[in-house]
Amino acid sequence: MRILKIQTLRGPNYWSIRRHKLIVMRLDLENLAETPSNQIPGFYEGLVEALPSLEGHYCSPGCRGGFLMRVREGTMMGHIVEHVALELQELAGMHVGFGRTRETATPGVYQVVIEYLNEEAGRYAGRAAVRLCQSIVDRGRYPKAELEQDIQDLKDFWRDASLGPSTEAIVKEAEKRGIPWMPLAARFLIQLGYGVNQKRMQATMTDSTGILGVELACDKEATKRILATNGVPVPRGTVINFLDDLEEAIEYVGGYPIVIKPLDGNHGRGITIDIRNWDDAEAAYQAARQVSRSIIVERYYVGRDHRVLVVDGKVVAVAERVPAHVVGNGRSTIAELIEETNQDPNRGEGHDNVLTKIELDRTSYQLLERQGYTVNSVPPKGQICYLRATANLSTGGIAVDRTDEIHPENVWLAQRVVKIIGLDIAGLDVVTTDISRPLREMDGVIVEVNAAPGFRMHVAPSQGTPRNVAGAVMDMLFPNEKPSRVPILTITGTNGKTTTTRLLAHIYKQTGKVVGYTTTDGTYIGDFLVEAGDNTGPQSAHVILQDPTVEVAVLESARGGILRSGLGFDAANVGVVLNVAADHLGIGDIDTIEQLANLKSVVAEAVFPDGYAVLNADDHRVAAMAEKTKANIAYFTMNPDSELVRKHIQKGGVAAVYENGYLSIVKGDWTHRIERAENIPLTMGGKAPFMIANALAASLAAFVQNVSIEQIRAGLRTFRASVSQTPGRMNLFNLGKYHALVDYAHNPASYEAVGSFVRNWTSGQRIGVVGGPGDRRDEDFVTLGKLAADIFDYIIVKEDDDTRGRSRGSAADLIIRGINQAKPNCRYESILDETQAINKGLDMAPDGSLVVILPESVSRAIRLIKVRGVQEEIQPQS
Ligand code: ATP
Ligand code: ATP
Ligand code: MG
Ligand code: MG
Repeated sequence: MRILKIQTLRGPNYWSIRRHKLIVMRLDLENLAETPSNQIPGFYEGLVEALPSLEGHYCSPGCRGGFLMRVREGTMMGHIVEHVALELQELAGMHVGFGRTRETATPGVYQVVIEYLNEEAGRYAGRAAVRLCQSIVDRGRYPKAELEQDIQDLKDFWRDASLGPSTEAIVKEAEKRGIPWMPLAARFLIQLGYGVNQKRMQATMTDSTGILGVELACDKEATKRILATNGVPVPRGTVINFLDDLEEAIEYVGGYPIVIKPLDGNHGRGITIDIRNWDDAEAAYQAARQVSRSIIVERYYVGRDHRVLVVDGKVVAVAERVPAHVVGNGRSTIAELIEETNQDPNRGEGHDNVLTKIELDRTSYQLLERQGYTVNSVPPKGQICYLRATANLSTGGIAVDRTDEIHPENVWLAQRVVKIIGLDIAGLDVVTTDISRPLREMDGVIVEVNAAPGFRMHVAPSQGTPRNVAGAVMDMLFPNEKPSRVPILTITGTNGKTTTTRLLAHIYKQTGKVVGYTTTDGTYIGDFLVEAGDNTGPQSAHVILQDPTVEVAVLESARGGILRSGLGFDAANVGVVLNVAADHLGIGDIDTIEQLANLKSVVAEAVFPDGYAVLNADDHRVAAMAEKTKANIAYFTMNPDSELVRKHIQKGGVAAVYENGYLSIVKGDWTHRIERAENIPLTMGGKAPFMIANALAASLAAFVQNVSIEQIRAGLRTFRASVSQTPGRMNLFNLGKYHALVDYAHNPASYEAVGSFVRNWTSGQRIGVVGGPGDRRDEDFVTLGKLAADIFDYIIVKEDDDTRGRSRGSAADLIIRGINQAKPNCRYESILDETQAINKGLDMAPDGSLVVILPESVSRAIRLIKVRGVQEEIQPQS
């Protein structure tokens, strides 16, 4: 077996609209191409031995053991690789269930599709599955050690990619609310929502968290001073920079017991509490010095440690934090009890799990000594032995929810404190013996205010009710009905995508909104080019959706991007499908026009149920997509008598129709005429029917988004596709006695489109200079020849400079065969060199004629025309 290609899909795609995260592996079975699993001796036994848990895969039989049954009875290796890849991820703790396997048009070559949670893990699982199956084929087994290594590697990928418990809670809540999110290029920055409606977060700080508030909170001493001047109870203390000042400081805070901590520390690092003598104080000073230059000396307040979380001015959760400890059982030593406690699967390293493993440090031994123990003591049953002085979860502490117990006065105080410091999200560290009584009564204090407080103690407390604190954050960022998204309108089809995208963006601009759009020419925001190039994939979509000024996104979706990585968003508000015609067949395992229609249909299907699929009623493959989408349907048609559209309108639907020379919206009993085609420059005075169709599609897409008829009209009248704006798209030049047209048509459907214009434009002689890209199929060239014979009076057949692997002259021969088949007496000649061919066409043009050039290089063709003294570039006037 050999892996030919691995692709990673990240959005709605050809295989599934709902499952966005898929790996597509192109797999050549080689010598196994004709050998089902039952014909490989020992394969079934070897597979069951390596992965007994495959028993849980139902597969087509629909019952436990169903898949293994198929292996025993005989199934192809691609299918087995799919199940193994899924199972490997499952064993590493990633729950994935979706898989598909299809043979391609090349016998023995399969597409194996598997779901993933983590991209790297998914690709790894695909490769590992091939390795595992190959090993069982060759040797009857897969070594246990290798399997264990695979699973460990997969687990590592999964762990390394984890976002951290707070961010995890936030994005989960966002997903629950249908708010899109994406990681940004800088580490830990997360974008919630799109465009102008986006918010950003980094851990639990938002883009509205004030820098002054954060800096104040990070300076514990300044925080205390500000709070003290406002009458808030805070620990009595002072800051020193030299050991010499320690003695005086201790006196100032009122003698022992004291606390020593670094001025700007966190996670409990360098802190010693409950210090009762000079030796300990000196050691504590040195420990704090490791973390910070300046040292806080404070009175020690007896009490329990609480975290009060305030979001958007309200207390949303309270947790008591209990320092790391073990409880005696009368048999085990403290060391054994720690060992046992750390076995808890909820305890991980650092912040990556609900709890953290207990580790002993310098203070732990002091603390044990004070309680009369060593690590080898056996404490009596039920006795609590503290192992850490501070209660930070990251040093092995646990959390107990106390949200329902906090006293109203403490709530008021906490909320006031956070206002004073100036934070939208803050965690207060409160030391008091009883949080259900007012602080003042208990001699409790507010020790610290944390900007970016962790959420894990609230969303997953060890005891008590979990609190949806991420929900409170979402309520703050996206209050009641405030949109998080911007409208996304996406356009696909075989021909006319760029034109329609540009036109729709132009129409939308009439509303005064900032429109971001992507096309095969580049990415634009408003009137400006962000980046030139073929930008129709998901990355370009992200440029638009991440831009903080964009109010509307209009995105050209080309087949390549959908095939390679899926759409760059979960669903659109409007999905436009212009047409489906034979082009690029045989590339990327899309071999038939039906498969091509299925691919384009992704754009119609990935639309919100309250959005619209805008479909071409005149193209039966496009019209049929109505069956597949859950969205509303809107049709456009060039045929005012279309039966399909008539029925659709009768049922209350909306449509755009070309009728009596007008582009009109039809809805209910009314026909709203937008504009005469003649007055729309893009339609070349109404003579280019395919441009009228494109304009109908764009108008309809705007209309279903509540753009007014007046604004649509203004957009249609003012959109000019000049040579500089859209080179190679129906660029028409007046050369005095004759005209020349340059167009980049390169498939049968677009040839026909150009033909429909040519017939409407002139009654004079029609000369065609034609050819096509060499990587198309033979039959496509023959079709081109037939179509050309139908359109032109005289044909000059040329070839591209780049024959894309074809032998010189073979494309021309095929075109000529087509010409002869369609019209045996058609006049033509063959000039393979494009420059010579164009010049010949222009030289021979009689008065009143039209020379149509379908070049490989648009810029060269335009240059050759312009040197002949162009009188004007035609843009039929409104
Ligand atoms: P974190 O960032 O996890 O909140 P930190 O390193 O910022 O920790 P503090 O919050 O200042 O440190 O202190 C850690 C813990 O030590 C407090 O939550 C509290 O339990 C205890 N503590 C600190 N100062 C005092 C004090 N003056 N009296 C009693 N306990 C204290
Ligand atoms: P590409 O796949 O190269 O990005 P596209 O779909 O973006 O192409 P456009 O750039 O808008 O298409 O138009 C390219 C050519 O296709 C036009 O110059 C014209 O010849 C033809 N064309 C445009 N619209 C249609 C249509 N609705 N039907 C058939 N042909 C069309
Ligand atoms: Mg703290
Ligand atoms: Mg395009």
